[in-house]
Amino acid sequence: MQVAKSSVLGYPRIGSEREWKKALEAFWAGKLEEAAFQSQLKEIRLSHLRKQQEKGIDLIPVNDFSCYDHILDTAAMFGIVPKRFAYEGGVVPLPVYYGMARGTKDAAASEMTKWFNTNYHYIVPELDGAVPTLAENKPLLAYREAKQALGIEGKPVLVGPLTFVKLSKGYSVAETDAWIDRLIPLYVQILRELAQEGVQWVQIDEPILVTKVSADDISRLKRIYETFAASVPGLNLMLQTYFEAVEHYGDIVSLPVQGIGLDFVHGLAGNLAAMEAHGFPKDKVLGAGIIDGRGIWKAPLRDKLSLLNKLAGFVPSDRLLVQSSCSLLHVPVSTRHETKLAPELKHALAFADEKLEELALLAQAVDGGERAVADALEACDRALEGLRRSNERNRSDVQQAVAAISATDASRSRPFSQRHSEQQKRWQLPLFPTTTIGSFPQTAEVRKARLLWRKGEWTGERYAAFIREQIDTWIKLQEEIGLDVLVHGEFERTDMVEFFGEKLAGFAFTQNGWVQSYGSRCVKPPVIYGDVAFEGAMTVEETKYAQSRTTRPVKGMLTGPITIMNWSFVREDIPREQIAYQLAYALRQEVEALEQAGIGMIQVDEPAVREGLPLKEAEQAGYLAWSVKAFRIATSTVQDSTQIHTHMCYCEFHDMIDSIESMDADVISIETSRSHGELIHSFETNTYKLGIGLGVYDIHSPRVPRVEEMTGMIDRALRVLDPQLFWINPDCGLKTRGFEETVASLRNMVEATRIARDKF
Ligand code: GLN
Ligand code: ZN
Repeated sequence: MQVAKSSVLGYPRIGSEREWKKALEAFWAGKLEEAAFQSQLKEIRLSHLRKQQEKGIDLIPVNDFSCYDHILDTAAMFGIVPKRFAYEGGVVPLPVYYGMARGTKDAAASEMTKWFNTNYHYIVPELDGAVPTLAENKPLLAYREAKQALGIEGKPVLVGPLTFVKLSKGYSVAETDAWIDRLIPLYVQILRELAQEGVQWVQIDEPILVTKVSADDISRLKRIYETFAASVPGLNLMLQTYFEAVEHYGDIVSLPVQGIGLDFVHGLAGNLAAMEAHGFPKDKVLGAGIIDGRGIWKAPLRDKLSLLNKLAGFVPSDRLLVQSSCSLLHVPVSTRHETKLAPELKHALAFADEKLEELALLAQAVDGGERAVADALEACDRALEGLRRSNERNRSDVQQAVAAISATDASRSRPFSQRHSEQQKRWQLPLFPTTTIGSFPQTAEVRKARLLWRKGEWTGERYAAFIREQIDTWIKLQEEIGLDVLVHGEFERTDMVEFFGEKLAGFAFTQNGWVQSYGSRCVKPPVIYGDVAFEGAMTVEETKYAQSRTTRPVKGMLTGPITIMNWSFVREDIPREQIAYQLAYALRQEVEALEQAGIGMIQVDEPAVREGLPLKEAEQAGYLAWSVKAFRIATSTVQDSTQIHTHMCYCEFHDMIDSIESMDADVISIETSRSHGELIHSFETNTYKLGIGLGVYDIHSPRVPRVEEMTGMIDRALRVLDPQLFWINPDCGLKTRGFEETVASLRNMVEATRIARDKF
């Protein structure tokens, strides 16, 4: 008889056909009335519950569904709405809720930021001035709905108070306790109502516990959960953590809760070691997160089973929950829709729905049930073996070359100072050279042309001619505006990762592998499943063409190895470091091809380096070191007079400046306009020694910046940075902007540069 139970921490919201996204966008566009919208959402929500029920999941999460984001939901549940949204108390109306997420015509949206080390983004609650109340017991409503409609005994999911407060802003450290104390009674009220309703298990997510928490936080944690235990004694609480091993294991497992959920995928080593050292309490349930909620691969079921059996040595299997490592929010819905993938790849994939099957199966197999699932285990072995043996995973040419290259320290033949003077001689650039980040507006016309070509209505030749026309237009425009270093405009690219992935070996593209990035925005990351290999020049034709149309330098434009890796789903049979080196080796061949074609400035974008930074501090330096090395492998074989550029954006860099410097790019362009001078401050204390362009205007808004605003930015930067190394550029690519505003903004930027030059 099966004793272990299966449990899911959360299920993707977007729907197998992205119905959720479409409903949200229709509602925002005014094409769907609120009542119709709500009933569509309900249908989607119930279909997700039904699916988990059918797959045999024992503990099905409710309240994991959201109309946008679960942190925003939590703020709304407590009536925490910034003053500027004119909220009058009670249940937060949908227009106010979406106002916080997306902004209204009168009020700016709340900040959005990355959810731990994932590509999901949440809305940051603003606590200042808020008076929290329980506006609506949303978990209770979700529980009732599941029970009434489907007879499901749901497990309500809540964001825990410590995590909620820690992820919020608008309060000082000294006010942390006051905020915790304000929220505790509201949580108690929620939990009481759930208990009265007959709820058995509640999952309280405290992922903050895998980060570095202070002793103060641990005492807050105790206060919170002791109060819950005293106030709602009959209710089972599963304190859930994920994304890494917990810090303070001993304190956490002795909290007065009935279950502890740990991540045995991403925090396997740490959590297991802690368990071996301290044991696991005899009176608690262990939520064993063993199916990866973030990866797309089929789990090696035999290995998972032996891990589970090992865990069953710490807790009897009737107190073992076989869980996903985190919410399945981070993986696509189902492989069912994939009809075009190579069979050996498709068979090795498991998206959310397939993971449900793995969970149910493992729960059945643990503690002696193995024979009942023998066929499934064998099928799993075969699938994984098929991919392991595939040609794509066994490119000895790539493996040998990469092993040789990564064994040496990749560096330019001469140091920056010497290269710099060579480059000055070659390029004769004025003081404060101006340039852009790479892309120009992808207008409706550009997108339409690509679509026609993809559908086969345009020949490759016609499409190429169209791209050349775009390049012509923009080369002329850039000359006329007066920019010094030109770009071809990236009109042939949809996306900075997909474009390269389509041209390199080792990548696959799903038809429907969407995951939520933020709000209704979904991304479909490429899959790096084999050895990455260069198969021919990827960008030379367009770049060379652009260069043939002007006497000014045209910068070649590539996406860096770490960004390609961090924005893809990657294979797990080799370390990420190796994947990065394979990508770097492929890109090196492209860099060399560009150089041979006469392109003397090459930009290798690395906006996503920060996104891959491990949560655990101890692992960060190692990651940064091999990331830098990958960049250098890609860029270090060029001549001294070839100028390597890089670009970074989207993040804070202050604690990464040393690493950025050791990338040894001749010029970096970096986003600053949204960080209000903080970045300049970090460069001040670090005295950056290479070429640097600070973004002088924010491209994320259609507003045309005034000359004086940019002059202000430039003056401030020049108080800190060496004028001889200073470049002037917008803070990111311009592909999302309109034509008119782009031209007007760049004209103003060139004017601001002229003013700056006059002062020197
Ligand atoms: N070269 C890319 C562009 O201009 C860089 C994009 C980015 O930084 N995300 O679009
Ligand atoms: Zn950028």
